[in-house]
Amino acid sequence: MVKFNFHTHTKYCDGSAKPQAYIDKAIELTFSAIGFSGHAPVPFSNEWSIKPEQLNNYCQEIKELKELYKNKIPIYLGLEIDFIPSITTRFELIKKQQQLDYHIGSVHFVKHPENKELWFIDGPEQGYIKGLSEIFKNEPQKAIETYYHQICEMVASEKPDIIGHFDKVKMHNRNRFFSEEESWYQRIIKETLKIIANSNSIVEVNTRGIYKKKTDTLFPDISILEQCYMLKIPITLSSDAHKPEELKNYFSETLDILKCVGFKHLTMLNGNNWEKVEIIRN
Ligand SMILES: [Zn+2]
Ligand SMILES: [Zn+2]
Repeated sequence: MVKFNFHTHTKYCDGSAKPQAYIDKAIELTFSAIGFSGHAPVPFSNEWSIKPEQLNNYCQEIKELKELYKNKIPIYLGLEIDFIPSITTRFELIKKQQQLDYHIGSVHFVKHPENKELWFIDGPEQGYIKGLSEIFKNEPQKAIETYYHQICEMVASEKPDIIGHFDKVKMHNRNRFFSEEESWYQRIIKETLKIIANSNSIVEVNTRGIYKKKTDTLFPDISILEQCYMLKIPITLSSDAHKPEELKNYFSETLDILKCVGFKHLTMLNGNNWEKVEIIRN
């Protein structure tokens, strides 16, 4: 069974433990690699991203651990970087400055195209609902389309190595404000995937929604995974772990789902290259 995880959060941001605890757990679980993807600072204060003054320490600590554990497990230094048009720092600049091995591009804040206010789709459900009504004036279609347009713009302009939790915007919806069956939703998914298929980005299959019981389906949904498969979009698997014990949550179930869809490979970083690894279950 493939065992690695490139989406993890430590105490430097909103995770629970020090980086070393994740590495020790990964070794215990016989992982072939582990990547750290702390939330990159954003230019406004919040509770969950690495504080700007801590960013160098985070990168330094992971680099030291890389060296310390070099004969035990490959460790990769990454960041989960928010993309908010004309607000966040260019991914390549951060990658170069911090000598990152990789980045995950994610949209947690949706910027209204006209009033420029930010709708926070993560965090408590009340914020999601409030943003839909106050920022997007109860126009869920406009809100969701703006989210996917932002993903498209991120893929085109920032070229993230990995696209984080592709359809996270569905998380607090639970079929109340829109249905994923609606034709406009299907259309925007199709358009977004077409852009991804023409890029070098990898779509992340993220299990966190399920094991945290916030969604009934993976990020992304199976019907989206089927389209990824048809479009030959490479995928990777992660649990978006915020605790060492979450490192492989819902992995075996997800691998079964991916095999059913038809996937034979996952993509992981090996040295400087993204490589295909075969999905084998024992
Ligand atoms: Zn995220
Ligand atoms: Zn994350």
